[in-house]
Amino acid sequence: MSYTLLVNKSHTLSSSYVPPYLTEARIPFHDPAHHEKTLMEKAAAKSAAKLFHRAAAENVTLMGISGYRSYRRQEALYRNALQRGSTAVAPPGTSEHQTGLALDISCASLNFELEESFAATKEGKWLKSNAPLYGFILRYPRRKEHITGYPWEPWHIRFVGKTLSLYLSLTGLTLEEYHDMLPDSSQIR
Ligand SMILES: [Zn+2]
Repeated sequence: MSYTLLVNKSHTLSSSYVPPYLTEARIPFHDPAHHEKTLMEKAAAKSAAKLFHRAAAENVTLMGISGYRSYRRQEALYRNALQRGSTAVAPPGTSEHQTGLALDISCASLNFELEESFAATKEGKWLKSNAPLYGFILRYPRRKEHITGYPWEPWHIRFVGKTLSLYLSLTGLTLEEYHDMLPDSSQIR
């Protein structure tokens, strides 16, 4: 599959899209009983395991919260959120968790919640500086909300492959801006 795949509110996935080669990510998950959340695309899963391994070696304990999310599950979460009057959940087809390339991470000091304050924790800081070395980017940076269409999410990493992750972290560009630079971004999808 293409690791540069762009998924957002204007580049959506169909309800039938399932990534090839989903596999169990060999990292700790806060809620391992929910099997779907522990799946990731094969190369992304492998890199996530290396990232977590490196973190542990440096005494940083990361916890996996959510990997893959099917269209159907995104739809259910979205519907539940709307019923509660919340618009914080992405509509089905617009979440890159459906690609198997995204992973939400938290830590014990936050009670494994997904919060902006993760950025200020030891784990959040470690993740920000090290994720690009393993092919991941922090997909929804602060002050890029108008470009990504998503609020700042310091806990959400996205696998794009190591060349692109290093390039994007050095330039500070988002995946949207990268796609805009390509001669014909429609061909990359
Ligand atoms: Zn996420």
